[in-house]
Amino acid sequence: MSSDTTPIIGILGSGQLGRMLAIAAAQLGLKTHIYAPDAAGSPAAEVASFHTTASYDDDAALRVFAGGVDVVTSEFENVPARTMDIISEFCPASPGHAPLHTAQHRIREKTLATELGISTPRFWHIRNAADLAAAMDELQAPAILKTCQLGYDGKGQIRMSPQDDTDAAIATLNSDDAILEEMIEFDCEISCLIARDRDGQHHHFPVSQNRHEAGILAQSVAPAPVLPLLADAAIEATAALADSLNLFGILAVEFFISRDGRLLFNEMAPRPHNSFHWTIEGCATSQFTQLARTLAGRPFGATHTYGRWQMDNLLGQHMPQVPDLLAAPGVHLHLYGKPQARTGRKMGHATRRIGD
Ligand code: ATP
Ligand code: MG
Repeated sequence: MSSDTTPIIGILGSGQLGRMLAIAAAQLGLKTHIYAPDAAGSPAAEVASFHTTASYDDDAALRVFAGGVDVVTSEFENVPARTMDIISEFCPASPGHAPLHTAQHRIREKTLATELGISTPRFWHIRNAADLAAAMDELQAPAILKTCQLGYDGKGQIRMSPQDDTDAAIATLNSDDAILEEMIEFDCEISCLIARDRDGQHHHFPVSQNRHEAGILAQSVAPAPVLPLLADAAIEATAALADSLNLFGILAVEFFISRDGRLLFNEMAPRPHNSFHWTIEGCATSQFTQLARTLAGRPFGATHTYGRWQMDNLLGQHMPQVPDLLAAPGVHLHLYGKPQARTGRKMGHATRRIGD
């Protein structure tokens, strides 16, 4: 428990999600403490009240950190389960053990969705070349082979055709824990976000529609121009997933809407999500403010939108656009303070209102 009366939110991770959460928390009069192996000088630590630079398996440092804050959350889902278990001996931990365990593995999350009656692309657990050959033989259609763990921004993925060499694909992926998914011909991709408090109450945001380039989110528009029936079904599925995991905090779920109009679960992340950065300007309460409120035990904020919004990611190769974006009226530019603008690295985003 913190020594003074201002609640302190502990955040595992040092990137832009932690940064924007720390800014939102500060606006609510809350303090934040960043914990990460590379915390010093990081995007999150430079706007937070405190930071600790230590590894996620440094038990002594974790205990000091957890003992000095009121609640802890993680800005990334691959935090080791043991880290969170140590922290939860001292204070409430968001999103909780079950949401992290499930979201860390593509087979586990798709299995849970299936158990809850939420459709997914057809999938197979692949441990070796023989599994892959058998699955491709059964599918006889284009597919994507992905590592089950630690993938992000389309990394650890190989697109496959029925005639491809399965031995070579497994050798390239270099993993004995993979998933093969049928390739969905989709009309569009959407994502949902809900906050869920410790009493199990939840509050959702309007749905986003997302476009990826080379596996990385390029643009979101919201509210998504999709049939209300599909948007409602996606929100309902997201709430069912959060409830079944007894999640505390925030849950984002990505879906495909197939050409034949089916809603299919892709993956979930129990943290703020890139496709909801537009909520900072576009919603009565942003995803970061909602998470800060939820963590601090404050009531949910309203999530109605102020018109229609577009968010464009700024990757390293897009940084030459910054002067134009700064000059454009109505563009809200966010830069994350990362020193090296490498190709494909998320450096910032720009949000604009595109309609009523
Ligand atoms: P991110 O971190 O950006 O969310 P990720 O690396 O975790 O991505 P996915 O969301 O599984 O990976 O895949 C990235 C993108 O690749 C998807 O948003 C989608 O555009 C495409 N994709 C993934 N799986 C499929 C599929 N089964 N059918 C069609 N497209 C797919
Ligand atoms: Mg994804």
